[in-house]
Amino acid sequence: MGHLIPMVELGKLILNHHPSFSVVLLTLIPSFNPASTASYVRHISHTFPAITFHHLPDIPLDTDLYPTMGAAMFELFRRSATNIEHALQSISLSSHITVFIIDLFCTPAMTVATKLNIPVYSFYTSGACCLAQYLYFPTLHRTTTGSFKDMNTLIHSPGLPPIPSSELPSPLLDRTSAVYSDLLVFCEQLPKSAGIIVNTFDSLEPKAIKAITDGLCVPDQPTPPIYTIGPLIAAGGDGSHECLNWLDLQPSQSVVYLCFGSLGLFSSHQLKEIATGLEKSGQRFLWVVRTPPSNNKMDRFQPPPEPDLDLLLPEGFLDRTRDRGLVVKTWAPQVAVLNKDSVGGFVTHCGWNSVLEAVIAGVPMVAWPLYAEQRLNKVVLVEEMKLALPMESAGGKVSAAEVEKRVRQLMEDKGIREVAMARKEEAAMAMSDGGSSRQALANLVASWCCSLSSHPFLFDF
Ligand code: UDP
Repeated sequence: MGHLIPMVELGKLILNHHPSFSVVLLTLIPSFNPASTASYVRHISHTFPAITFHHLPDIPLDTDLYPTMGAAMFELFRRSATNIEHALQSISLSSHITVFIIDLFCTPAMTVATKLNIPVYSFYTSGACCLAQYLYFPTLHRTTTGSFKDMNTLIHSPGLPPIPSSELPSPLLDRTSAVYSDLLVFCEQLPKSAGIIVNTFDSLEPKAIKAITDGLCVPDQPTPPIYTIGPLIAAGGDGSHECLNWLDLQPSQSVVYLCFGSLGLFSSHQLKEIATGLEKSGQRFLWVVRTPPSNNKMDRFQPPPEPDLDLLLPEGFLDRTRDRGLVVKTWAPQVAVLNKDSVGGFVTHCGWNSVLEAVIAGVPMVAWPLYAEQRLNKVVLVEEMKLALPMESAGGKVSAAEVEKRVRQLMEDKGIREVAMARKEEAAMAMSDGGSSRQALANLVASWCCSLSSHPFLFDF
């Protein structure tokens, strides 16, 4: 969803500003995906009929063979190259495809489209800092030998603060893994795009954007133009959720919100530590709690069942914190939550959509990264953007005392709140008429040959 939603939002953005275009989303919804993906696609088809979907046939995969959802997605698209070619050919029968915009997992689609003479743009749904890291990764790969996870050193990449080697995006850590090779191919192919669209805005990540546009991240070949068209985030969500009424009753900027993306899960021990830390902090809180990960491999890619709070949380916790805390099971309408006046802080796993949603709402963060490129995002959020405090862990575990300390610090730190409010204003400016992101969108569309204004666009997820 963290890839599909921004792609849909990009389609909406293009259609809003250039209504003469049509957008087709080429999607592959594998059988192991949660049902929510298919229902989201149905929802968009219903509410935004200008975007049409072209579904690729599913390819059955033995998901046991793939350690992560990302590894399975790379394999799916590798095996879908012929289907993508057929889809492009079939659409070309009735319309001219002006441009093909592909997601990170869809590298094989680049070869197919190039063969058919269709210009390919990449849409990078995380930030420019991570993009800079990925563009520079082939150079790092060539100039090192071991795995980054074993190095215990600082990685110096153009446009980025020094990143501890262990904090690089998780697929880059183990040189012997299949997903490392998949990412390397993706990173090598990226500069071959006709352009790279990034979900960020200029004043949020100026150093990384400059390093990319100056060509420092890809020293051995030209860097394509990059288009910083963000921040794009999902529209509103469920406005009737009970937690929104509860937030309306709390004082301004008094509540810390804890939520860890669509995939973040904790052990029952870690959940108890968080609960104890929250209770001792004395702060108001809204906490999204999920059932701990299943030991059954078959369940890995499925959303967990509804949590049993009495079993998972310390005895009496819910009663003792009843007047100042709310625990929500599994899912909260995050965008609406972050925009409530009572929310004053966000403990986040640093997924890029969550980061942008907090930036747009002007909410400072505590960074508690869990997977993918979130550790790198944490370093950038803390060291570079000064938008987050770090949640320190020991051996992957965070103590109740650390939760208590960081939550209190976040809610009392006026400096970090001012930085968050300044970025909020800049984000709004970037997206307003004449702002940097609007200009980037105009430049992007101008690069797609103006004479073809009535022809369809095709996106791939
Ligand atoms: N989200 C939500 N409620 C939840 C958990 C997540 O609305 O309880 C949304 C969140 O607003 C964001 C997306 O799910 O838009 C998660 O994307 P992100 O990039 O932050 O993390 P990912 O899930 O991809 O790791």
